Amino acid sequence: MLDVLIIGAGPVGLACALETQRKGLQVAIVEKGALVNSIIGYPTNMEFFSTPELLEIGGYPFPTAHYKPLREDALDYYQRVARAEKLTLRLYERVLKLDGEQGNFTVTTDQGEIPTRNVIVATGFYDLPNPLGVPGEDLPHVRHYYKEPYEHVGQEVVVIGAKNSSAKAALQLTRAGAHVTLIVRGPEISQSVKYWIRPDLVNRIAEGRITAHFNTCVTAIGPGAIDVLTPDGPLTIPSSCVYALTGYHPDEALLGRLGIEPDPQDEARAPLFNPATHETTRPGVFVAGTVCGGRATSRWFIENGRHHAQLIAAYLAPRVATLLA
Ligand SMILES: Cc1cc2nc3c(=O)[nH]c(=O)nc-3n(C[C@H](O)[C@H](O)[C@H](O)COP(=O)(O)OP(=O)(O)OC[C@H]3O[C@@H](n4cnc5c(N)ncnc54)[C@H](O)[C@@H]3O)c2cc1C
Repeated sequence: MLDVLIIGAGPVGLACALETQRKGLQVAIVEKGALVNSIIGYPTNMEFFSTPELLEIGGYPFPTAHYKPLREDALDYYQRVARAEKLTLRLYERVLKLDGEQGNFTVTTDQGEIPTRNVIVATGFYDLPNPLGVPGEDLPHVRHYYKEPYEHVGQEVVVIGAKNSSAKAALQLTRAGAHVTLIVRGPEISQSVKYWIRPDLVNRIAEGRITAHFNTCVTAIGPGAIDVLTPDGPLTIPSSCVYALTGYHPDEALLGRLGIEPDPQDEARAPLFNPATHETTRPGVFVAGTVCGGRATSRWFIENGRHHAQLIAAYLAPRVATLLA
């Protein structure tokens, strides 16, 4: 039987695996996709906001040729760390539910059952986009993940949202020759957009290269156009592609099946856990990484979430010894 099964092979799941394994525990990671699956889905040429040392896990230096690492640098770094630590990875295996109690859990996946004494849930947030809740949202040209601009050269593209992802997508699409219209629910580009990106976008809007509609909401999406309601009335905007970059949220149904309760005091519905140990109200079940913030997906990221691993490992190792005694 495993001492600990980690659900999710993101940066934080990997950090949890190596820290618990270094304490002498029997550890495996189960991951529904590829290693660091979320990062694979990020924009192709994406540059991290963090400098490399803030993304490091397990004390392994993160060498990069750039001041800020690129997506490919991170993909390479995390797979090297996983191999160097000889982590046990069960990739392309999805966790469905959890039965039993601490010391004797059974994790059910789409491929079978895994017995384990403890479980760390590091499932992130990137799989479920926040819906707009408008007709036409399911049309094939409506996307919630932006990869690269080149297929949109000379095309009318609508970007919905005013945070970092939308800001970067709007700028990149424009520079690659797409005609971008930005739809923003609030009165301005979010102040949370990184300080080196926001002025670039604000200036492109001011010079008319990007059309932006503020205080505007989407009312419907059709095959070649999108309907919005601006402060001056309804408007139909032609669009061959719509990027609805309105954020993501954790899989609350899965968290429920794992017996993790949301904090009733927290409007982000973050899991209820002891901040000193990251143990949830279900003994033996821990949370780590972005999932700890619930719908507040920017509360925990790699920089700060990676430290959950040491906290959990320091607490779990003696607990496992007690369980085995
Ligand atoms: C474009 C972009 C840029 C970013 N830049 C930065 C940055 O510069 N610095 C920074 O610190 N953070 C950054 N972040 C945030 C950061 O990437 C996330 O916070 C980080 O991925 C969190 O790591 P995690 O391990 O908690 O979750 P994830 O990396 O999301 O990993 C969760 C894993 O769990 C798996 N999983 C989910 N459900 C199941 C299941 N049922 N069974 C098995 N496996 C499952 C998923 O497939 C996934 O691989 C950025 C995010 C985005 C979107």
